Amino acid sequence: MPEFDLLVIGGGPGGYVAAIRGAQRGLRVGLVEKERPGGVCLNWGCIPTKAMLRSAEVFHTLTAAAEFGVYADNVRFDFAAVRQRKDGVVKELTDGVAGLLKANGVTVIEGHARFVGPTTVEVHETGASPIFEGGPRYAAAPGAPVRQVSAQDVIVATGSVPALLPIPGADLPGVVTSDGAFGLTEVPRRLVVIGGSAVGAEWASLFATFGSQVTVVELQDRLVPLEDKEIGDALGRSFRKRGITVLTGATVTAIAQDDGLLVSVAGPKPQDIPADVVLVGVGRRPNTAELGLDVAGIGTDARGFIEVDDQLRTGVEHVYAIGDVTGRALLAHVASHQGLTAADVIAGHDAHIDYTVIPAATFTHPEIASVGLTEAAARAAGHEVITAKFPFAALGRAKTFGETEGIMKIVAGQQHREVLGVHIIGPSASDLITEGALAIYLEATLDELADTIHAHPTLGEIGMETALAGLGLPVHIAPRKR
Ligand SMILES: Cc1cc2nc3c(=O)[nH]c(=O)nc-3n(C[C@H](O)[C@H](O)[C@H](O)COP(=O)(O)OP(=O)(O)OC[C@H]3O[C@@H](n4cnc5c(N)ncnc54)[C@H](O)[C@@H]3O)c2cc1C
Repeated sequence: MPEFDLLVIGGGPGGYVAAIRGAQRGLRVGLVEKERPGGVCLNWGCIPTKAMLRSAEVFHTLTAAAEFGVYADNVRFDFAAVRQRKDGVVKELTDGVAGLLKANGVTVIEGHARFVGPTTVEVHETGASPIFEGGPRYAAAPGAPVRQVSAQDVIVATGSVPALLPIPGADLPGVVTSDGAFGLTEVPRRLVVIGGSAVGAEWASLFATFGSQVTVVELQDRLVPLEDKEIGDALGRSFRKRGITVLTGATVTAIAQDDGLLVSVAGPKPQDIPADVVLVGVGRRPNTAELGLDVAGIGTDARGFIEVDDQLRTGVEHVYAIGDVTGRALLAHVASHQGLTAADVIAGHDAHIDYTVIPAATFTHPEIASVGLTEAAARAAGHEVITAKFPFAALGRAKTFGETEGIMKIVAGQQHREVLGVHIIGPSASDLITEGALAIYLEATLDELADTIHAHPTLGEIGMETALAGLGLPVHIAPRKR
């Protein structure tokens, strides 16, 4: 009999959630993790970036305090203390995950797992950090495996790592990926961010608030190109207003050592940009190095992501994959939901994952959040749509906050007025999007959103006000001219 009913490889938000659900379903669960519990999300992604962005937000609020009749003289920050606070938040949460795994009876095995058969892995010691002391230990150390582990079913939850840029100079000192950016001990004076998607935009926003002279180079025609065009354009305008240089339709062709670094940009305005740090935020690749997928016979797509069905089954019996390594939507909450589904399937439940409602947030200043279809995607899918917009500037609560920049945009079907997509740029967008997610999940209409009494004065009123605008019955903005 195998040692475990379920073996999970990787302890990120996909893997640890799957392990806990499996144990709760009565399975004997083992989890192999080569770095730290919590994966990228808790150690190198969602949490540490948001902890540092919160410090930036506090700094920003204090520098603008006079607007609120509050005088804070000599406001300054200590970047070492910002990083220390971030480390504290990360430690509390990763310790919490370790505690939850223990409390649920999951056996955690430290080391790097490598398949030696479809449901058997050997666990190796993990090598030292290639990035900085205490950092991620990506590689299996050479030498004999520490032990071999077998299970009835296996879930691969090994996540993703930063994509590298195949251009000259990408390996120069001072050129960092998102992981490496956590090793920066000082705020760079001049920062070039390559890639204006969520990860790049958040780092740009963070360092701009702390005083870096930031340039973002984005290949597409706007920042956050996966978002609705109006939202991406609005973020570009906002960044430029804050003094961030935004180069769209542009690409970095080389990085050279100069007095610091010199970044060559091709595009509408070819130029060389001097920088102290270049942050490469151009995407992610599956974390499958030295995993032995071929030994287990597990298939991948052309980019190396593991292909799965809606029950997270790979092509190999008893082997499942969840999270970033499946390349579906590289978000922590998607990984967790896939984990719950896979564990339930393994425990004998008829569970299926549904990707219709996936909210996503980008924690720039101003924040961005969205769920469902963009206007362009809805039209491309053949929907006849109506769109409605409402500005935060017309909300009483936003005025009291002193945060009036941004809009909500709803995309709805023309005939039934069902909500197809919700897009927000503005204060607390990441919290407000939950109403949009629930609206789409419950197939709510603009009429139902508008009929729902929203508390006043709240930022949440924007959902009701935008729906009213979509119905042609706006109360707090002038009606569209007929
Ligand atoms: C800077 C940044 C900010 C982000 N912000 C957000 C955000 O705000 N919201 C959001 O939803 N998402 C965010 N993400 C994305 C999010 O972090 C990922 O989608 C999420 O972590 C994926 O979870 P996962 O469980 O699939 O994999 P991971 O979190 O990558 O975890 C995989 C784990 O597997 C381990 N592992 C890998 N190979 C092996 C092996 N062979 N043996 C043993 N262990 C192994 C790794 O050490 C790792 O701990 C962000 C990402 C980055 C980089």
